[in-house]
Amino acid sequence: MIKKFIQSLFERAPAKTGRRSGKTGTGAPVRLSARQHGIDPALLSPNAVRVTRTLQEAGFKAYVVGGAVRDLLLGVRPKDFDIATDATPEDVVKHFRRARIIGRRFRLVHVMFGPETMEVSTFRANAPEEAQTDEHGRVLRDNVFGSQADDAARRDFTANALYYDPSTQTVLDYFNGVPDIKARILRIIGDPKLRYREDPVRMLRAMRFAAKLQFSIDETTRRPIAAMAPLIENVPAARLFDEMLKLLTSGHAMACLHQLRKEGLHHGLLPMLDVVLEQPQGERFITLVLDRTDARVRAGKPVAPSFLFAALLWNQVLEHWQAIRTAGEAVIPALFQAMDEVLERQTERLAIPRRLTADMREIWSLQPRFERRTGKSPYRMLEHLRYRAAWDFLSLRAEAGEIDTALADWWEAFANADGPDRTEFLSRVRPTDSDTGSGPKRRRRRSRGGAGKPAAETPSE
Ligand code: ATP
Ligand code: MG
Repeated sequence: MIKKFIQSLFERAPAKTGRRSGKTGTGAPVRLSARQHGIDPALLSPNAVRVTRTLQEAGFKAYVVGGAVRDLLLGVRPKDFDIATDATPEDVVKHFRRARIIGRRFRLVHVMFGPETMEVSTFRANAPEEAQTDEHGRVLRDNVFGSQADDAARRDFTANALYYDPSTQTVLDYFNGVPDIKARILRIIGDPKLRYREDPVRMLRAMRFAAKLQFSIDETTRRPIAAMAPLIENVPAARLFDEMLKLLTSGHAMACLHQLRKEGLHHGLLPMLDVVLEQPQGERFITLVLDRTDARVRAGKPVAPSFLFAALLWNQVLEHWQAIRTAGEAVIPALFQAMDEVLERQTERLAIPRRLTADMREIWSLQPRFERRTGKSPYRMLEHLRYRAAWDFLSLRAEAGEIDTALADWWEAFANADGPDRTEFLSRVRPTDSDTGSGPKRRRRRSRGGAGKPAAETPSE
């Protein structure tokens, strides 16, 4: 009893003196009670509570950590939950029926509950002397376990270094994260230059969080970014793809992209971003796509990454398609060649997984088939596995004014009609309506003739 009391004094004492916001240090955390932090426990996933409780009952420390605590403090229901513990991955898996160890650079445990997965990671230290780095100082492996204070110090931003214990409803704050969240400030932990060198993706994360959470970036955190932006070139293409996807599906995609441009992080680093932000002719289409994606994400609906990337790169495909056709190639072979060229250029920097590029190719290659509205072709089209995605894509093109809205409307009506009525639809298509030579030619005609307003101002829905 007395021992506990003395311990608690020690736990509290350095907290008041030893901590400076954003500075690395291993001082004790500030402990905030439910009344002080105001987290609504109803926003927590019962599975997060289950995992922390199980580990605590087995004698380990276990907390909800990272973005989930940040979101809880902002009064937002977290989309997923990360758990931090002093149990090793091997210890963790023993306590759950459906759990497995994943990851190489960073070993952690996935605990599955139906559709929900909890990510459980063991406290780690940012131990530069032990970590393997590349010649620019980028950390290649960081699997050194450490104390909870070490774990807090190796996290990226003060707002992301908070620990919440659901059983006592206490928040542990090592770096003044709670005041920063209340003031809506994004502040990196430690020396910004060092932290960006260790992991340049942190610069992109700063942009994403600032845009998504509407936080301002602390000046010391922001200042080195422009000069250090080229370090992103050393980040493996697969990791860059993951970060791009997070950015685009954050529910604030356009804001993120503008933030990237503002800080000089897009130029020449991610070819796709140059395309997205610097192609005036594609802007309407891309704005539409990103607005719709944001709306879906915010409504909790799923977003198909292949559709999103197909849309973002469509204008490039169109440009190449047009050029190849002008050089004398036939419509379809020209499209396939254009798709190859665009994907090849993108995947040099951004490893778009093969299963996605396969879907993207299908969405693109089905576009000229919408022009064929005679014979058996339209029936075969409806049966195509990717018909729905391809039609959604077509309707976006129509809404952006790239093609005639009537084409997308016709397909919708045709798809919704009953058997005999479908035949009737086909008979209404004049031969000149079909096979008119597809995308690029049409588009060129339209953009030359279309002074002012785009062709289709009225949405197709
Ligand atoms: P989101 O809302 O996007 O899930 P998040 O903060 O939870 O945001 P995650 O990528 O899920 O982000 O990471 C979980 C936590 O792991 C972060 O909050 C942060 O503490 C830590 N973290 C993730 N990536 C890094 C990084 N590159 N460097 C340092 N810490 C990181
Ligand atoms: Mg998270």
